[in-house]
Amino acid sequence: MQSNRTRYQRFKATHPDYHRLWRQRHADSINQRNRERWRTSEAYREHRKEQHRLWRRTNHDKVALAEKASREQHKEHYKQLHRTWRIANRNRLLEYQRLNIGKRREQKRWTQQRRRSRAAINTDKPLKRDQWQALIALYRHRCAYCGTKAKQLQQDHIIPISRGGADSIDNIVPACPSCNGRKQAGPPPNGFNPRLPLI
Ligand SMILES: [Zn+2]
Repeated sequence: MQSNRTRYQRFKATHPDYHRLWRQRHADSINQRNRERWRTSEAYREHRKEQHRLWRRTNHDKVALAEKASREQHKEHYKQLHRTWRIANRNRLLEYQRLNIGKRREQKRWTQQRRRSRAAINTDKPLKRDQWQALIALYRHRCAYCGTKAKQLQQDHIIPISRGGADSIDNIVPACPSCNGRKQAGPPPNGFNPRLPLI
């Protein structure tokens, strides 16, 4: 004899949409019943919340998209939230800024340098940040032209980018702002060549 379970499974196989359609037809009463359960049962609320958390964890992409859309739609609301948070956490923020001021300055300088030399010009190997730091260390924090120890060394392209020089480590040396400026104003004068770093 066939068990009910087997019969049900066979029915399910031949009517794949039946359950979904049934739920669609009875959506109103299902929702009403669930609302009632939500109102009266603590266990049901917990169950639904857990389901929700699980779903969010397994649908990162959808969650991110929805949050982005929501931020777009409620821009003012989020701005206000952010403002309130900043005011409430003013001391934390100041402390964070104080601790990270060096890092922030360095980051800013790097961004400006790269913007100036427009990354990836004439090369498939644009200068990387750690390469630049290694170069500076190699030149012992000195200008490659005049040897002055400068705090704010700039990235000087030995062959200028405008003349086809590459924006990569083999065409870049650290230069003090004054030498870099002099070189940019015209062709480098005689004897005005980058010194080889003393290793
Ligand atoms: Zn110099």
